[in-house]
Amino acid sequence: MLPVVALVGRPNVGKSTLFNRLTNTRDALVADYPGLTRDRKYGQAKFEKRQFIVVDTGGITGDEEGIDAEMAQQSLLAIEEADVVLFLVDARAGLLPADQGIADHLRRINKKVFVVANKVDGIDGDSESAEFYSLGLGAIKQIAAAHGRGISQLLQDALKPL
Ligand code: GDP
Ligand code: MG
Repeated sequence: MLPVVALVGRPNVGKSTLFNRLTNTRDALVADYPGLTRDRKYGQAKFEKRQFIVVDTGGITGDEEGIDAEMAQQSLLAIEEADVVLFLVDARAGLLPADQGIADHLRRINKKVFVVANKVDGIDGDSESAEFYSLGLGAIKQIAAAHGRGISQLLQDALKPL
């Protein structure tokens, strides 16, 4: 069984952009991975000869109803089956209540979590991502998923304990 890396965060932070970059595709192939539910979007990725599964999710906003509730449920399940969670936030939009809600959940579970501040292209990444320390989930990884920046360093750290 390959390690599973889940991408979670509120909508529009860049989860799918990162997913596509990690899996080198616009729309990942969904294969049969035993033990994984098939509703979420799975892709296979490789970093420095290490293969892993990436799971994209629709997003969590915190106070969901209807289709959003379904989406949030998918995210919670993805977190459950993950070995590592990449919790994406938007360095341009800054810290929003929905981010806090997700962080509250992630702090309660016993799982390796990395806070990933995306979209640091063209801004001062250090100062724009400083506020995410208040999420209480440790160090902040800075990336620009759309440009491939910071991805190697992120994967190096995220896959290390697996
Ligand atoms: P998702 O809803 O979390 O899956 O987010 P998407 O991957 O669909 O991206 C949401 C928006 O953010 C899109 O318009 C992307 O082009 C944009 N985006 C994603 N990554 C970056 C980035 O690294 N830099 C910038 N400036 N925009 C990005
Ligand atoms: Mg998406």
